[in-house]
Amino acid sequence: MLESPVYKRIVLKVSGESLAGQNGFGIDAGMISSIAEQVKEVVNLNVEVAIVVGGGNIWRGIAGMEKGIDRATADYMGMLATVMNSLALQDALEAIGVPTRVQTSIAMQQIAEPYIRRRAIRHLEKGRVVIFASGTGNPFFSTDTTAALRAAEIEAEVILMAKNKVDGVYSADPFKDANAEKFDQLTYLDVLNRNLGVMDSTSASLCMDNNIPLVVFSITEPGNIKRVVLGEKSELL
Ligand code: UDP
Repeated sequence: MLESPVYKRIVLKVSGESLAGQNGFGIDAGMISSIAEQVKEVVNLNVEVAIVVGGGNIWRGIAGMEKGIDRATADYMGMLATVMNSLALQDALEAIGVPTRVQTSIAMQQIAEPYIRRRAIRHLEKGRVVIFASGTGNPFFSTDTTAALRAAEIEAEVILMAKNKVDGVYSADPFKDANAEKFDQLTYLDVLNRNLGVMDSTSASLCMDNNIPLVVFSITEPGNIKRVVLGEKSELL
């Protein structure tokens, strides 16, 4: 039986934490190649894949502030961390034959293309994976917001929010609270009103205003991106 994807163009949000694997810090070789293999599976189904990579495995703006670094500077450092992760993911994808372009919202022409919306779309149409690095290019934002923004810009049908440990959204951290309730269906207003940790409020608002659906899934299980793309996991938001 032919496997037919339910989406033509997706934005995959990979948090920095997912790249760190069990270590909790830095880039885990096994994790990054597993993610690359999972992406390859969906590229082979002719799905256009854009990826937004986080940086929390290396640096987060908030952590920098705790060290006394000015917020904007700490955030720029965080955006640089996303570039390192993006290059690592590009390398892992190209190593298995998936043509990939990194586009950065902060100019660094020796390393990556600048973010140009129409060019990104052209790459996708040609079957290349596009990795969006440097977040939005602005401090005080997050890579979740970047995923929402880029999804709206490139008219992606859905955001696939890859989580490291959990496979959905809970009322509390299920590893800390045995009574944490798992949600089957939510609205972005629920996320905002209940202050759920699945994404920050800026990204939830942007998704809500632009009617972008979201699927939350665990990336630690091989084959999961393909399962989502084949419609085996329904949209949560
Ligand atoms: N960041 C930013 N603007 C953006 C995206 C990211 O300033 O548009 C900074 C921010 O400091 C953030 C860090 O980059 O903490 C890493 O991104 P994020 O925390 O979203 O990564 P993730 O949690 O997905 O690993």
